[in-house]
Amino acid sequence: MRAKKSLGQNFLVDDGVAERIVRALAPRADETVLEIGPGRGALTTRLSERAGRVVALELDRELAAALRVRFSTSARFTLIEGDALEVDFCAVVAPALQTRVVANLPYNIATAILQRLITARGCVTESILMLQREVVARLVAPPSTPERGFISVLVEAYCEAEALFDVAPAAFKPVPKVWSTVVRLRMREQGAPDAREATLLWPLVSAGFAQRRKTIFNNLRHAPADLLQRIEQVNGAHAALLAAEIDPQRRAETLTLTDWRRLARMIGQM
Ligand code: SAM
Repeated sequence: MRAKKSLGQNFLVDDGVAERIVRALAPRADETVLEIGPGRGALTTRLSERAGRVVALELDRELAAALRVRFSTSARFTLIEGDALEVDFCAVVAPALQTRVVANLPYNIATAILQRLITARGCVTESILMLQREVVARLVAPPSTPERGFISVLVEAYCEAEALFDVAPAAFKPVPKVWSTVVRLRMREQGAPDAREATLLWPLVSAGFAQRRKTIFNNLRHAPADLLQRIEQVNGAHAALLAAEIDPQRRAETLTLTDWRRLARMIGQM
């Protein structure tokens, strides 16, 4: 079967790397593990030997059929043929109420899946993800570094993120152009923004990073209409920033998560 570029199919062929990923997860005999994009099963076999149950979600019909045959005798294995950008992660692992996720994700949909995993944090407690190295650098970037962006603030708000190890292109077939990094994302049990806070916080962070070279003040002045209306209600971006003790001349990447949350609280007062 030929690898499909459109589905980001770079299959892991290095057993040592597969073992390290599964060890990082350390599946337990009493849990359900969700694997996104099992492909040719490089991780799946190891997972199914150790986890209580494995739910594997694969979009490619041919690969899904092959996996179904291969694991047909395993009562602890469930294959779902579906799109990880649409499927409800909590629903597919039922009756389990919680799950941990492992995935070597196609690069083009990695951040979208990551956002979906955060949205599914009611049931997803931890994820071990293999992503493009540059993407992981952005996920774990602290304030005042060039990689800091919307996704870094989002991940920091909901997860404890830890880059585990790098993986060379030669570990895959076909060989990709880029290095990968395996990252652990553990959902925070406490202190993450609730739904109410999130409705203002994320549009605000997104607007703040709209044009990286501009100051936070200039970006907020040109925020989308809904947000701008809220900002005008607290006398405009300049006043809101000063009230939140943030120098309007700073750039978005210098703001800490605490700064963003203080600013959102300030704007949300009205
Ligand atoms: N886990 C395997 C491995 O490590 O060798 C395969 C990794 S490959 C980078 C990505 C896998 O995700 C492929 O099997 C591909 O078919 C699957 N995939 C791509 N898009 C998907 C989607 N939207 N939903 C579910 N699976 C998807």
